[in-house]
Amino acid sequence: MEQKKFTHLHLHTEYSLLDASGKVKDIMKKAKELGMDSIAITDHGVMYGCVAFYKAAKEQGIKPILGCEVYVAAKSKDIKLNDKANSTHHLVLLVKNEIGYQNLMKIVSTASIEGFYYKPRIDHEYLKNHSEGLIALSACLGGEVQSYHLKDNYEKAKEVALLYKDIFNDDFYLEIQNHGMEEQRKVTEENIRLSKETGIPLVATNDVHYINQKDSESHDVLMCIQTAKTVDDPNRRRYPSDQFYLKSPDEMWEMFSYVKEALENTTKIADQCNFDYEFHVSKLPEFPVPEGKTPSAYLEEICYGGLIERYDVFKDFLNKPLSVKEIVDYSKKNEKACEYVERLEYELSVINQMGFVDYFLITWDFIKFANDNGIPTGPGRGSAAGSIVAFTLGITKIDPLKYNLLFERKQRCAV
Ligand SMILES: [Zn+2]
Ligand SMILES: [Zn+2]
Repeated sequence: MEQKKFTHLHLHTEYSLLDASGKVKDIMKKAKELGMDSIAITDHGVMYGCVAFYKAAKEQGIKPILGCEVYVAAKSKDIKLNDKANSTHHLVLLVKNEIGYQNLMKIVSTASIEGFYYKPRIDHEYLKNHSEGLIALSACLGGEVQSYHLKDNYEKAKEVALLYKDIFNDDFYLEIQNHGMEEQRKVTEENIRLSKETGIPLVATNDVHYINQKDSESHDVLMCIQTAKTVDDPNRRRYPSDQFYLKSPDEMWEMFSYVKEALENTTKIADQCNFDYEFHVSKLPEFPVPEGKTPSAYLEEICYGGLIERYDVFKDFLNKPLSVKEIVDYSKKNEKACEYVERLEYELSVINQMGFVDYFLITWDFIKFANDNGIPTGPGRGSAAGSIVAFTLGITKIDPLKYNLLFERKQRCAV
């Protein structure tokens, strides 16, 4: 018997706040029960469920596909007016690889930072410049292509579909859904026709907003919370059916057996999505240091420079070429100087051991920029408060030794 494989590529989790109720861990349990080997997350406009989703999927031995259902302004994300011609549509984006993940993060962030108008919005132009590594699906009835089908404007739907095909370099699919709605039957028919005419492939999805069919009731209550209505209000906004659940592959095949290609494409897409997080690997950028210097030598130099500027006992070294060795030699003959140098050396050795050299250089750099440009920075706290390295770098303004913070000297100095 033919194995009926199906991957859900359009799925909202609890992270589609007040709109979807499926908890990530429960979704995975159910997916496992249903024999699925891959599943996507496509929350509305956000990616903050991705890590939890990824981990929960891996725990169940299921391949996670990261994505997002973004909002696209028809003209421009920069227009923030009530403008019908710039209405907002849905679009599902799925991550194929590392580049796609980077692009999706940019898209989602830019939508919130620059394009926010009721919803975090992006536009065609921005998508065009950030489409590498992503697969796009035309989304629900709220998708741009479908919106024209609903207006009986096939030509415009086709034009927009071809535009998306171009934006995503052929990685664009026409979604077909069936939640028992009349509009969907019509849109599906039109998308099938459009696919035949343009060669844009079809993909079958279910717009998952809860896990089990029976959850539609509690999901309905969630909708009431979102819209501040009660379940007794006959005029409230509610979902048109109880079909927005995590359907089994068999159920999906039953619904769409007449367009096999749309079902098979879910597996094809899933196979192309291969992004993995690298947890516990430092992604800290390397700080560019002057040629011929190692980052730790550079950090040491800046610290010693800061030391002679900040402590009177080193004043003879001011306005001379910096020599770490001379300062260290001098400290062996001066108790106060020795205390400072010993503390600094100890801290630098810890920073080196822990691999935090670049972290300190980066922090030094932006605090210096702030100080040089009159941007207030506060006294400086955080994990390295009370550190002489932070003090000599100018990151903090409080002399840790003045308060003798938590440092037991080894008394190795000769004095
Ligand atoms: Zn949608
Ligand atoms: Zn959706």
